[in-house]
Amino acid sequence: MAATLSIQQISKSYGAIRALNGVSFDVPEGSVFGVLGPNGSGKTTLLGILLDVLVANGGTYQWFGGIPAHEARKKIGALLETPNFYHYLSAFDNLAITAAIRGAGLEDRLEVLKIVGLLERKDSKFQTYSLGMKQRLAIGAALLGKPRVLVLDEPTNGLDPAGIAEIRELIKQLNKQGITIIIASHLLDEIEKVCTHVAILKRGELLLTGDVNEVLISEDQIEVAAGNMEALLVALHAMPGINKLSRKETVLQLACAAGIGPYQVNEYCVGKGIILTHLNLRKKSLETKFMELTN
Ligand code: ATP
Repeated sequence: MAATLSIQQISKSYGAIRALNGVSFDVPEGSVFGVLGPNGSGKTTLLGILLDVLVANGGTYQWFGGIPAHEARKKIGALLETPNFYHYLSAFDNLAITAAIRGAGLEDRLEVLKIVGLLERKDSKFQTYSLGMKQRLAIGAALLGKPRVLVLDEPTNGLDPAGIAEIRELIKQLNKQGITIIIASHLLDEIEKVCTHVAILKRGELLLTGDVNEVLISEDQIEVAAGNMEALLVALHAMPGINKLSRKETVLQLACAAGIGPYQVNEYCVGKGIILTHLNLRKKSLETKFMELTN
């Protein structure tokens, strides 16, 4: 897959504070890419640089294979901080002002409001909106001008679980329409549910990047049990590709090499005449991995 964004060795200091230190990664086209890290890890600084709001001290980046910056900017919708909407104006009128500031046409407004689920409330004053609706309107504003990429900094900040779920669904829906989405967040649990790819930052350093499933695959654990646990233990000890085997209460826990999953384990046991009574794949959450990496 082509890279929508490619960054190499980006560094940024604020006086003595080193906010980013040689960060490099690619954002594949069509991905939902999570830039994850605890507070102060450099996420907002990185997004600011990529959107030309801040200047890096070192490194380079290319949007869409290296087209000129002003061309690239037209294809990017961004939500870096909560935009200032007028409280006494409707969503529809607020979007007219945003479009004017941005130099975008007015014709997208109804479509954008439909996408973010605010069409029926388009004439309500902004001050009557819930926090979740305000945030969806902000994403709607970023969608004016039909961007190919959406960049969101902490899009679920301050929202309740229902509001978070709405934003998550919206992100999935936009991605299905072909928009590449880059999200900075420290909320791992929420990000894990939408991201296809991640880059994890800690104090300005890139710790890890890649496909969410590939990044996590070595951490998967398979749990099995059978009527005869001793026979199962002996059989699995001899199975190639089982890296770790431990007994926990009534099950055996397996850490497997790449390419060994529940199917292979089941097939192997059946081949040895053992019928499994329990087979479960436990994916280690990104949250756990993230805590291990950043603590
Ligand atoms: P958060 O989730 O808290 O917003 P972040 O991961 O987005 O954090 P940044 O806001 O990019 O991180 O901050 C990275 C580092 O740079 C921090 O140590 C922060 O204090 C510092 N920093 C950010 N902006 C400035 C600034 N304008 N002047 C001085 N230091 C700054």
